[in-house]
Amino acid sequence: MARDDIERIEAVFGAISKIAAGEEVDTGLDDARCPKCGKSNFVRVSDLYSEAVGRIEADPANAEVVHVGGMTDLRIVERLKPPRRKSAVGPTLLVAIPLGAASYYAYTRLGDIGQVVIVASIVITVVVLLTSLRRLSDEYYQARRRWNSLFMCRECGQLVAS
Ligand SMILES: [Zn+2]
Repeated sequence: MARDDIERIEAVFGAISKIAAGEEVDTGLDDARCPKCGKSNFVRVSDLYSEAVGRIEADPANAEVVHVGGMTDLRIVERLKPPRRKSAVGPTLLVAIPLGAASYYAYTRLGDIGQVVIVASIVITVVVLLTSLRRLSDEYYQARRRWNSLFMCRECGQLVAS
């Protein structure tokens, strides 16, 4: 966990120093070769995705046209879509609902102890909410970074991470 944090801080500072130096943050694959077909002809997945979305929006008939790597625009949009941030509401409710029921039971049946149960339930719910937010944010950050570093071979459709 601590190592991940250090790596992340390093990545952020690395990116900031590159921006400050006027360099591009990610130079891409340069002269890397495709592990499948040996060609050196890559397109960034994030560019490919936004181009495919744009073409489909311009004309839905384009969705079935094959472009790079033997993939149609529709397939590019489905397979290579950017990661989304997930909501912490689900995991929190999973805990909050049974605790709420337990609190209600304790409050109506157990008197003073019921108040302790209510406070404990609130504390547990808040802890679950905060840890869920942190975990989902970490997962999203990593998935997003992975997606941003992905390239696809224009010749055969092989995905390569930079
Ligand atoms: Zn290839």
